Amino acid sequence: MILLTLLIMAGAVACNPDFAPGATTTMTHFPQSPDEAIAELVAGNARYVHGQTTATNPPSARSALARGQAPFAAIIRCADSRVAPEIVFDQPLGTLFVTAVAGNIVTPEITASLEYSVAVLGSKLVVVMGHSGCGAVEAAIKYRDTADQLPGSLKILVDQIKAPCTLKADPTQSEKYIAEAVKCNASKGVGQLLARSQVLADAVEMRQIKIIAGVQDVESGTFTVNMG
Ligand SMILES: [Zn+2]
Repeated sequence: MILLTLLIMAGAVACNPDFAPGATTTMTHFPQSPDEAIAELVAGNARYVHGQTTATNPPSARSALARGQAPFAAIIRCADSRVAPEIVFDQPLGTLFVTAVAGNIVTPEITASLEYSVAVLGSKLVVVMGHSGCGAVEAAIKYRDTADQLPGSLKILVDQIKAPCTLKADPTQSEKYIAEAVKCNASKGVGQLLARSQVLADAVEMRQIKIIAGVQDVESGTFTVNMG
């Protein structure tokens, strides 16, 4: 039923005569495949790292964007203030469908949002975006066995990060262990999306999209795609 509803919504968008992927952005070449989407993000990140960003959001682009959107990639980012995909990947408005939650964890609402981006808006790529120095991952390591001591709703958050990514981590939180846990937490998100979303799993199976994970180094700015 969910897939059927999404497809009906997608049909409504496709019937809009003013709608064409890329027409609502300032990009000169709009990615048409998962691999092109990855290449565009990698190239944009290189521009950002070297201080050569080109993305602009002129007032003239607003009227086109007001008529619709066709983001080529959907992203789960951490809520951390140093993580901003539009900046880090040097992309204009209308190109990235961004969801955010501390620790870039896969929640039902995040999953539904990504399904919307893929099935309705036609995104070619889903990215689980971790980052160095992630406070949520560090908390999951520090309070691995004592999460009940955390205030408010934080236990719910760290519980979703913990297994298996903090099991090997040293509670003294050496940088090496934190980096491994951050990378693991991002990769775990890919598996969870495939396991929890038939919409996304089917799109991957049909090679309409790819789902990848990676880590942004907040100091260098470099985004590195997780391998394996
Ligand atoms: Zn974080």
